[in-house]
Amino acid sequence: MTLRTASDYMKSLRDLNPLVYYQGRRITDVTRHPATAPHVRAAALTYTLANHPRYRNLATAVSHLTGRTINRFTHVHQSGEDLLKKVKLLRLLGQKTGSCFQRCVGWDGINAVYSVTYEIDQKHGTDYFQRFKKWLVQIQDQNLMVVGAMTDPKGDRSKGPAQQPDPDQYVRIMERRADGVVLRGAKLHMTGGVNSHEILIMPTTAMEAGAADYAVVCALPVNAPGVTMIFGRQANDHRKDNRERIDAGNPTFGGVGGEAVIVFEDVFVPWERVFMNGETEFTGPLVYRFAAHHRANYGGCKTGLLDVLIGAVAYLTRIQGTDRAAHVRDKLTEMIHLAETLYSSAVACAVEGRPTPSGAFLVDTMLANVGKHNTTRFHFEIARLALDLAGGFLATLPSQHDFTHERIGPWLKKYFSGVNRIPVEDRVKIARLIEAMTGGTTLVESMHGAGSPQAQRVMMLREGNLEQKIKLAQALARIPPTRSRE
Ligand code: SF4
Repeated sequence: MTLRTASDYMKSLRDLNPLVYYQGRRITDVTRHPATAPHVRAAALTYTLANHPRYRNLATAVSHLTGRTINRFTHVHQSGEDLLKKVKLLRLLGQKTGSCFQRCVGWDGINAVYSVTYEIDQKHGTDYFQRFKKWLVQIQDQNLMVVGAMTDPKGDRSKGPAQQPDPDQYVRIMERRADGVVLRGAKLHMTGGVNSHEILIMPTTAMEAGAADYAVVCALPVNAPGVTMIFGRQANDHRKDNRERIDAGNPTFGGVGGEAVIVFEDVFVPWERVFMNGETEFTGPLVYRFAAHHRANYGGCKTGLLDVLIGAVAYLTRIQGTDRAAHVRDKLTEMIHLAETLYSSAVACAVEGRPTPSGAFLVDTMLANVGKHNTTRFHFEIARLALDLAGGFLATLPSQHDFTHERIGPWLKKYFSGVNRIPVEDRVKIARLIEAMTGGTTLVESMHGAGSPQAQRVMMLREGNLEQKIKLAQALARIPPTRSRE
């Protein structure tokens, strides 16, 4: 069955009913549980937009495999234009949700695995690419959501996968059978895990030759026997899914991605769903391509979120009567400048994208790392400016119960009012939204999602071609190139 609408998507999640725990209890319906429902609604918007006449051009694509119209979140990028549409789609969804909508992780996994399986087959004569395309056609035709499962626990980080005292610290093949493989291990921080249909397992890092059991790529349903998910606790836990409250922040969409630990307890995966089986030399390129695609995204999705945050701050200053002050306008200008700088990187990554041997397009990897690295700084600076302009009442504001209390409510409404004729509820709602978008989990996600800052610095130095830059300087300074160390 093809999932066309958001309600098809929700129903399919109820039918799947994966094994999910949260705060020590089983969640039996992720579409209705207050901890997970906002994240489901954010992801559901990827289904809604694909049916909307105004957004269909961005939110759908034509499959190069079948010629059929598919949800863009299942598409393999065939051109720079596809990459550009992705950035625009992510910004749009960020604007509409003010939140992570999660579906990009699997999309980036699909694109990375597609190009790498092609190259493995070219070298080894395997048939991973055919298997992967067959699986992907199902994903496209049924419009399924995929969680890209990359990050392993890693145990003692001074040791590689095969040297760990506990061999389960990286997902590994326990057994190879005639009909498939048996997996054990776990993946952490799995964005959208509890509300996806399929898990696409990928290695977390480049593997050495002795780590063949850890060099595994495969796909399995989220409700496969032996799969358990534990949904993460977040800073805004008690403010989610409470749409009638004025102090919930972003009650519809939660404001951040919903992440889970996924444990694989001797899980069987048939061969037709295995897309890498020990080819360690391809783990590095796979991780690299996935990371590049996902890092490029941040200039799209986070810019959309920042559009919301900047709008929230601008509105708050207006209803507080400070919007005409020169320093307020200057700080808003700075916020816009930083957000658009992030967007520029994402656009540049797409425009400078190039085809891989498989034909799938890959973003410019240097610019993707630069863009994500800037996100880890600019999002924080924009949040700092937002808090500066919003004022200290963000931290001291009483709750909804106090505002609606018979005796104390009228005082609060009087003393928290802003300019004339604006209901005090507007000021509270917008303040709580700013609070939700500048706090705890949101900023951690910007820092570490798609890789921590140091991971980008490693890639920038590796790709920065210092030797060529030295030669440029030597040529202008009239220094013979032989005086270089190299
Ligand atoms: Fe997509 Fe952005 Fe969320 Fe990553 S952080 S899954 S790119 S919305």
